[in-house]
Amino acid sequence: MNGYEQVLQGVVGLFHASENITRKEFNTFVNSLKIKKNWPGIQGIGFSIPVTVGDKAKHIREIRNEGFPEYTIKPEGDRDEYSAIIYLEPFDWRNERAFGYDMWSNDMRREAMTRARDTGEASTSGIITLVQETNTDVQKGFLTYLPLYQDGVSLETIEQRRKAFIGWVYSPFRMGDLMTGILGSEQTEIEYEIFDGERVSKETMLFDSNKSSHEEYPLVAGALMKTVALELQGRKWALHFTTGRNAQGVSESRQPIIVAIVGLVVSFLLFFIVSSLALRQKYTEKIAQNMESELRNATELALANEEKAERSTDNEIISEILSLSILSKSLNDTLEKALKLILSRKRFKHFGMGTVFLFDELTNKLHMAAQSNLAPQIKSMCTEINLGQCLCGQAALLRKTIMKFCLDHDHEITFDGINEHGHICEPIQSGEKLLGVLNLYTPHGHHGTEQELKFVKTVSNTLSGLIKQKRFESELAIALDTANAASEAKSAFLAAMSHELRTPLNAVLGFGQMLQFTPNAPLSPNQNDYVENILESGNHLLKLVNQILDLASIEAYQIDLSLIDLEANEVISNCVNLVAPLGKKRSIEIVDQFSNGPLVHLFTDSTRLKQVLINLLGNAIKFNKDGGTVTIEGTETDYGYLRISVIDTGIGIAAKNQSSVFNLFHRVDADSMIAREGTGIGLTVSRLLAERLGGRIDFESEEGLGSTFWIELPLANNDDVLIWTEVIKIGVDTIDKDHQVLVSMVNRLMRRSADMADVDEIINELIEYRIHAVSFHSRRSNYGGL
Ligand code: ADP
Repeated sequence: MNGYEQVLQGVVGLFHASENITRKEFNTFVNSLKIKKNWPGIQGIGFSIPVTVGDKAKHIREIRNEGFPEYTIKPEGDRDEYSAIIYLEPFDWRNERAFGYDMWSNDMRREAMTRARDTGEASTSGIITLVQETNTDVQKGFLTYLPLYQDGVSLETIEQRRKAFIGWVYSPFRMGDLMTGILGSEQTEIEYEIFDGERVSKETMLFDSNKSSHEEYPLVAGALMKTVALELQGRKWALHFTTGRNAQGVSESRQPIIVAIVGLVVSFLLFFIVSSLALRQKYTEKIAQNMESELRNATELALANEEKAERSTDNEIISEILSLSILSKSLNDTLEKALKLILSRKRFKHFGMGTVFLFDELTNKLHMAAQSNLAPQIKSMCTEINLGQCLCGQAALLRKTIMKFCLDHDHEITFDGINEHGHICEPIQSGEKLLGVLNLYTPHGHHGTEQELKFVKTVSNTLSGLIKQKRFESELAIALDTANAASEAKSAFLAAMSHELRTPLNAVLGFGQMLQFTPNAPLSPNQNDYVENILESGNHLLKLVNQILDLASIEAYQIDLSLIDLEANEVISNCVNLVAPLGKKRSIEIVDQFSNGPLVHLFTDSTRLKQVLINLLGNAIKFNKDGGTVTIEGTETDYGYLRISVIDTGIGIAAKNQSSVFNLFHRVDADSMIAREGTGIGLTVSRLLAERLGGRIDFESEEGLGSTFWIELPLANNDDVLIWTEVIKIGVDTIDKDHQVLVSMVNRLMRRSADMADVDEIINELIEYRIHAVSFHSRRSNYGGL
């Protein structure tokens, strides 16, 4: 919304420029902003003034004399104070209904108008029905006001502001149009409502995505909704998501999750909208500032008619140059296009010749970045210019406009037979910093007008914004490439490490075993102990290397899952058989209560599932007491998952250590023998794998009594879970990674029962992630899309 506020600021700037803005000027200015195209949902831009009881008759007479014989202040009747909308553009049939309307007569509007007048800031009204509404498709709306004061007076206190007050520049918004503009018009299972203030009630509802539903359906209570608070221009709004009439078919337990997801999606959208508006705001701010300074100083009213016409085309040109910022073009292409636009202005059109130079801090020279119609000789002579050299070099060195109406000795770079011409060379700066020079050819003998000079200055400011933006974009692109390269380098390093470490290690182990089993030259008992030690440590190291490599590739999203429909019973029985010998060594009984029960189908990766189960079973044995038990169970949850639990009667985990069990390299040194066996990587890997498989893993434990570690994986018939596979891979690492992260977040939301704390946690994670990654990746496409 701040972007929208900037539009109004631009209008205030316009008013500051002259004492009297005519209807025509207002119309031209608002048209040049192309609000329908650039600012969806904005119903128009208007100007309203206060009218005293004494002035009422005179006011009506004056407007009637402008050619509106029907004009009057509406609603009719006598009041102590009035206001009247005197301009409202576009002046179409809908807005015409508001012409002359006294907004002061309405409490809701008066409250915001007073706030704007007294604080000097933009102020948004509560919900209203706009006077532009007819009987059909009636939408709620709101208004944003910006106060206009006399120029050059102090506005420190309320009294001073009231005294200097002239009127309100304002915009009506139709909520339905605004939301459709922002979110599209598709109906979803989910309804969202927007409320004025923090209270969620029928009276305060600003917008309802499903108009008919709340007549019949009360708001869904408790956990079945999600409310997000927003604040804009001094007014609070609540965005509220609920499952609606269409979601009746969805089982109760899933509703809150769907609500949360839509909340998530909308939150994403809002982020994009906000960031794109913020982006626009930056440039609109510039244009507003430029216009303000351009218009403020001028004694515009005294200007010739011709200059007035120029002014509106100037604004149009600037507005078109600004719109280049949203195209995904390179900096040089953008400058080329901007130069063409600049040269379309009167006077510069004469030759249609010009150059944009960029300053290179390293070489301390100007480099030609864009040109139009240059003579071939000049083109080659001007590819590089030293500071201080010729007219452009002087403009750069002195940081000031160099204006010439003929060729003189300052024009150092020249050739025989050059056409007579003049120049305007304007430095392009960001604060004190030199970014480049804009060089325009003017007809010989032409002394530039003040208006022309202002135009050139404004344009140079605009170019400065464009250059900074484009540079920022390419820095992002480079950072992205560097990140990709780093990730490739990491993979290459891992591949190398896997080879370089494992090969010699295998040799050490192999030769160690040979030492032990050389029947001709048996080792002494002491030697044998040493070799045992070598082998044990070597095996531990090999396990560590293998696990680290595995972890690294899972973390880097480089594992390819092969998902199939399988019987969990068989996988579990295999795993139990594999670990049984380990248990036997310490008389630990393994009780399999699952494999022989009813068949359960999962859609998962069998190798990875085995890996997780073996880790859990291995731990259950490792951390058990001699003669203890390990039980494996399986139950189907009512939300479409199989929960496999591995229950042991071992040492358990102390409450203080429970929160870090899944952390990398976490180990509790309960017993040095046990600790030596472990690496503290297994559970970290298991958790990553469980998440990649659309599931989750967790445990309960009591110190001294034992632990239950469990993993939940989606049943084969659970269609709600998204599992990242090769099929949805698009081949761009960073984007694929984004998608995988999002998929795993969505899965986490889908599978949990309605726990809003989890939802909040995930939304926060998402916000974190998108700040660091998604916003980064999507930024460039953002420019193109908006
Ligand atoms: P490792 O077992 O290789 O050390 P894990 O990541 O599998 O690595 O486990 C990390 C730590 O969690 C273990 O070192 C142990 O302290 C604790 N732990 C895991 N499973 C159990 C269990 N069943 N009972 C008690 N503690 C356990």
